[in-house]
Amino acid sequence: MKIWHLIFNLCILSLFLQCSEIKMPVKTNSMNTETSKNNPYYSRTDKTKLNVSNEEWKKILSPDLYAVAREAATERPFTGKYNETDELGEYYCAVCGNHLFRSSSKFASSCGWPSFFQSEKDAVKYKRDSTHGMERIEVVCGRCDSHLGHVFNDGPEPTGVRYCMNSVSLDFVPDSESQR
Ligand SMILES: [Zn+2]
Repeated sequence: MKIWHLIFNLCILSLFLQCSEIKMPVKTNSMNTETSKNNPYYSRTDKTKLNVSNEEWKKILSPDLYAVAREAATERPFTGKYNETDELGEYYCAVCGNHLFRSSSKFASSCGWPSFFQSEKDAVKYKRDSTHGMERIEVVCGRCDSHLGHVFNDGPEPTGVRYCMNSVSLDFVPDSESQR
């Protein structure tokens, strides 16, 4: 009798473990949503320029986003969540919600980061970047000054430029979701 009881308990335990494994990613997703909800500066409609200290951003942003957006770190190539996305929709600044790119200006680039040939009007600003022994043009968000990536002059027509962006700095909203 005791053995059957033990087997029964093991079955219940394994069922419980399976359930908790399935539930774990859902839990992580809802936590991410909470993080963006806890960001009082995030707005897809407010165009007011932001002047928020890094000390304040550090309390609000995830460590990955903080490192790229506020310390100009670069995510590893081919690892970003939007590198191969070709869905129709809009790309916003992950820090402040500023509308940055439309999916129609995204193109398949082999560089390993999401690439666009055009930004939305007045959405971004440019800065000279001479770090890492290179002469590059840094692209920052026009509303919150967060680092997005760099722009190069080897893009496709009609602009000939390539905005090489970090996925973590972007927040994508598919058309299917925004029409709901
Ligand atoms: Zn921004």
